[in-house]
Amino acid sequence: MKLDGKVALITGASKGIGKEISKEFIKNGATVIINYKNDTEYGDITFNELQQYGIVERFIGDVSNEEFVVSMIDSIISKYGKIDVLVNNAGISSFNMLVDTTISDFNNIMDINFKSVYLLSREVLRSMMYAKGVILNISSMWGEHGSSCETIYSASKGAINAFTKALSKEVSSMGVRVNAIAPGAIDTDMNKHFTEEEKKDIEEMCSLGRLGTAKEIAKVALFLCSDDSSFITGEIINVTGGKI
Ligand code: NAP
Repeated sequence: MKLDGKVALITGASKGIGKEISKEFIKNGATVIINYKNDTEYGDITFNELQQYGIVERFIGDVSNEEFVVSMIDSIISKYGKIDVLVNNAGISSFNMLVDTTISDFNNIMDINFKSVYLLSREVLRSMMYAKGVILNISSMWGEHGSSCETIYSASKGAINAFTKALSKEVSSMGVRVNAIAPGAIDTDMNKHFTEEEKKDIEEMCSLGRLGTAKEIAKVALFLCSDDSSFITGEIINVTGGKI
């Protein structure tokens, strides 16, 4: 029970990496608040599944919307009095030549992937200060290395990396730790548009020769959000299966 008594907010948790992190956290004693954007059957199934493991609540809405974020954090603080752990996981990707993208593509990706991290961190920190809280951002290996045809996505994740390092320095004296995980290719819906052949190419770029699982990211997230990692802050932890 590595997160016993902790209150954790995980964004983008209707499926994929966010869902697995939520499951891992609940199983380790945390009260988990999940967020996702679309009120669909998909989210209901996840919510019901997570309830089998412990206490879970949900807030459905867009994390790039300031009004929604402020009101969600206010509601959580009013009810639970604190947020110990924030996992900024919600994100979208898009695959396109830069010349074929529009300003609305740019705004959408930057708003959901990066502006949300700013908004949530800002609001949560107000109550997290001096409370030994943890912020964990889900970045991507492309944030450092850059991916062809995912230029805006890569830039949004690069921004998260810089944000993580800078904020960790700003809040470390208050006992708050800030880290990021930079996953490689993980088998979730985000990659379902790839053909079998494209998937094979991606696997060949990985030393371990396969896509990672959401659970493999969740295990590292648990470590980084628990006291097991009490001397780690300002780090971008690569979980990629090894890059060739
Ligand atoms: P996923 O399966 O597509 O799930 C994305 C989640 O984000 C869903 O719950 C979705 O909710 C939510 N979301 C999207 N836009 C949102 C918004 N505006 N407000 C609130 N929630 C929103 O993706 P994933 O693969 O688990 O990815 C999770 C994170 O890991 C992302 O930040 C991604 O960039 C990062 N990552 C993934 C990979 C990979 O290979 N899969 C690699 C590196 C990094 P709805 O279902 O309601 O839309």
